[in-house]
Amino acid sequence: MKKLYLVVWSILSCVLLSCSGSENGKSLPNPPKHIVLVGFDGLSSYSLNNGAEMPQFRSMMQDGCYTLENRSVLPSSSAVNWASMFMGAGPELHGYTEWGSSTPDLPSRVLNEHGIFPDIYSGIRAKYPDAELGFFYEWNGMKYLVDTLAINHVQPLNLSAENSKEELKDVLSYLKEKKPMFCSVIFGEPDGAGHSKGWESEDYFKMLTHLDQALALIVSAVKEAGMMDETVFILSADHGGKGTGHGGKTMNEMQTPIVFYGKGIKQGAQITESTMVYDIAGTVAFMLGVEQPQVWIARPIKSAFNEKF
Ligand SMILES: [Zn+2]
Repeated sequence: MKKLYLVVWSILSCVLLSCSGSENGKSLPNPPKHIVLVGFDGLSSYSLNNGAEMPQFRSMMQDGCYTLENRSVLPSSSAVNWASMFMGAGPELHGYTEWGSSTPDLPSRVLNEHGIFPDIYSGIRAKYPDAELGFFYEWNGMKYLVDTLAINHVQPLNLSAENSKEELKDVLSYLKEKKPMFCSVIFGEPDGAGHSKGWESEDYFKMLTHLDQALALIVSAVKEAGMMDETVFILSADHGGKGTGHGGKTMNEMQTPIVFYGKGIKQGAQITESTMVYDIAGTVAFMLGVEQPQVWIARPIKSAFNEKF
């Protein structure tokens, strides 16, 4: 009897242990080999709800998983929100509080070995010393908001220029040749069009269509490189806008899209849970099995994946 009890007990503990193990599992069982984050400065959910002609973007919404109710942190400004997207925390913690902050306006709560608030790039680098990591940006202020010392390839480009095809050449060949584990491409528009002509203006909507063509080129490059089956795309923005500005508390300024598309991502689904801009860093970390620094407040958006956690 005693023996039987022991056997049952050991089987039970094994089952319990393995259950709790998978419940606390911090990463995907079949992680993607590549993650491509495409950011659009000033792309509002409002514009997508009001007829923005972005066929490529919309096809990734429809065949992927998305929310149009993602929120920016306050103020709804660029540096504050881009920093949050990469740093997995809000301005109270990373310290970048103004639209153009290039250094923290209040001390970052924690600094990594490079003297910057721990971001997703430094997290990936710590776990994967040999990983290929890329960062292409248009607005000059972006380079202060990530740990560039953790990135192999950092390059400014006029990504939104009229001759995008020419300007994007370096991005496309980088994707094909280096097949990065994580690469961000951050357009400086449609923010400029919004500031000069208004967030609901014809110019703003025209710019969205132009950016959508650039997005299509990026997606094609990933396809041509034969990486599509192993890639997750993330599309998002720092903030929206209203009139010719942003920074305030209207939903037009604060609501932005998050789209996930690709390997292991639900198709034709919406994310109904609450998300914030900093959850993007948490979701990238989750996909790659990178443990979040304690200082992060990001919550991985697990409902976007086919697998249940
Ligand atoms: Zn702006």
